[in-house]
Amino acid sequence: MEECIFCKIVNGEIPCAEVYSSDSVLAFLDIGPIVEGHTLVIPREHYSTLWDLPQELAGEMQRVMQKVGVGIFQVTGATGLNVVMNNYKSAGQVVPHAHWHLIPRREGDGLMPVEQKQYESQEAMYELAAKIHSAL
Ligand code: 5GP
Ligand code: ZN
Repeated sequence: MEECIFCKIVNGEIPCAEVYSSDSVLAFLDIGPIVEGHTLVIPREHYSTLWDLPQELAGEMQRVMQKVGVGIFQVTGATGLNVVMNNYKSAGQVVPHAHWHLIPRREGDGLMPVEQKQYESQEAMYELAAKIHSAL
């Protein structure tokens, strides 16, 4: 895609700090890291979100994440690692070229706190699960 910043990185029009590359997938450091070592894993071909990715390519992205993750643990001394994909604008996706964020974590680093809620009732929870199930 012409205007896509990640396609430009794939094409070499914009430089990146490459970490790993395969025939169909590229991994490089995020230019605005949440923490040092924050890495992005992207398909070379342009797909917008997780739901657009062909299964085989998604599998290759996972292989690359597992490989690169080992290096991130070793080099950054992280003791944990979050894997996140923002899909669509409402979920915070800024670059519409599907990408996994690999975010190295340490105990007590205070990053990404998430407040969890409770369902009104057990019934409400099971009802919602059944609704989603029947939508599949
Ligand atoms: P999103 O919010 O779409 O999930 O994440 C996009 C990410 O891409 C952001 O974390 C941002 O810092 C990163 N990013 C945007 N432009 C560039 C760039 O030109 N080079 C690199 N390496 N990262 C970028
Ligand atoms: Zn793209």
